[in-house]
Parts: sequence; C-alpha cells; structure tokens
Amino acid sequence: MKVTLSHARNCLRPTHSTPMTPPPQPGPHRRRCRTAATLLACCCVAGLAVSRAAEKADKPVKLMARFGALLGKVGTSNKDKVNILSGPVPVQMLNDKSPGQVWQAAVGNVKFKITIQDATRLRIEDCLERVQRLPPAYRAILPIVSEGNKAGMACYTNLNGAAAHGSQDYLNLVPTAGAQVILHEAGHILEQRVTSARPDTLERWKKAIAEDKVSVSDYGDQVAHEDLAEFSLVYAVCLEAGGARLAELQRLSPRRFAQWADILRTAPTLPPPPKKAKAADRPRGKPGSKAGS
Ligand SMILES: [Zn+2]
Repeated sequence: MKVTLSHARNCLRPTHSTPMTPPPQPGPHRRRCRTAATLLACCCVAGLAVSRAAEKADKPVKLMARFGALLGKVGTSNKDKVNILSGPVPVQMLNDKSPGQVWQAAVGNVKFKITIQDATRLRIEDCLERVQRLPPAYRAILPIVSEGNKAGMACYTNLNGAAAHGSQDYLNLVPTAGAQVILHEAGHILEQRVTSARPDTLERWKKAIAEDKVSVSDYGDQVAHEDLAEFSLVYAVCLEAGGARLAELQRLSPRRFAQWADILRTAPTLPPPPKKAKAADRPRGKPGSKAGS
C-alpha cells in the first residue's frame, strides 16, 4: 500500500511504497507506524477550517481533524530540559548491528537512553528537542523502552518505509519523526505495558470505540491498536492545550477518554512482563514425565 508521510517539525513529505516487510527486530509486538495522523500536522490551516465547521455543526468528522490545529503546538511550552548524564558510548544498533552511540539522559526525575545510528548524522541535540516536547505524563514511555538491554529512544536512517516502530520493547524513529510521531508511539508502548497485566485491554478499547460512535482518524479506523495510538496523540495535544480542550475531547469520546487516562496512569506503575523461557531453558520430557530427567 502506498502511503504518504509528513512530519510537522520540518514538513518533509517523503512518499514510501516499500512493502511492509518487518525489519530484523526482537520482540513479538512490532507495530509499524506510518502515522497518517501526522499528515494533518502539515495541514493546520485546513485542519482549523474543518475544526470550525465541525464546531458549528457540533458534529465532529474525526477527532484528529477536530483538534488538528493544535498538533503543531504540542509541547512547545514545556520548560523542562533534558540533561545528559553520560555518553556517548559506542554501541551496535539492535536492529542491524550497525555502529551507533548511546547516551544516558534524564528529564525531570525520569532517566532513559538515547541511541543514534552513526549513519543518521543526527546530533544528540536534535533528539533532546523532541523529548522535551513530550507532556510530562507521557515521559513514562522513556524508562520503559530503556529497561535492561533495550536501546531507549533509537534513531535509524530508515525503518523500511515506516516513520517509527513502537512497543514496550523499543521506540525506533527515523530522523524526520518528530514529537507527534512519538506521541502516537506512546499509545503502543503504554497500551502494551498495561495489556501485559490486563490482557483484555484492547478488547475493552474496541468496545469503547463502538460506544463512542466517533472516529479518531482514517488511520486509526484500520485496527483497534492504531485507533488507540491515534487517540494517544489527540489526548496529548488536548492535555497541552488546557482544560477546555481536554473537556471537549472527553465529551466527544468519553469511553476512550476514560480508558486512555487509566492506561496513562497505570502503565508507569507496572513492572516489565516476565520473559518467556527459551526452548533450551524449558524443562525437557513429555508432559507428566519428570522434568529435567
Ligand atoms: Zn501505530
């Protein structure tokens, strides 16, 4: 499927027709995000017109369009700066073993890693600016993707046509992916952390979609976990915009609103899920026989 991407930060509009073949990446929950939502970020004027028309009729077409005018402003008023604690240290990138550098960093009391593939030629400052635009409630994604041997926020030259990959095991971005892309990926990261403890999370989300009777975006309409990730982005921009916008979102999509607020509150309190035992680690022997014999 041919998908056009755009990114609010620099309004690049690369077109990708790469087949959706997965890159070599550990973890069972890869989510390839072409973030069609970010298209709207480059169309703030159009988004505003749609928003005003929708307000007039009090009938939103899509939540992303309703709040589209806010997308470019997300996080611009944040004052907290990221501090580099240590680094850079040379590493092999987890996806392809190519050379990269890793830093330990902190924003507020949240510690995390940033990994940059050398070939991107990105400066660490470019990555810090994106992190600083995350609303404080969304910073919880950073320590989750930095646990153990995970790479933290990892920047690659390309991800086979995707803007980003997000799961509780990784947050991989291409150089042009800005704060809005990260806020979409935050949906995947936090949902997966909660699903590990509450396996019915996405089933409950599907029910919320049906009960709310409103679409977030065309991209979200494809599948429930993308609807959730798109809602994560819309919620973040409303959160930043202030109480009136947040209340408006709650009125328009009350079931999703309640569930996302709960995910946002709960995910940071949960430990990583236990690792599944590798085949070689499992006890040998047929069921009922003495393990390890
Ligand atoms: Zn996604």
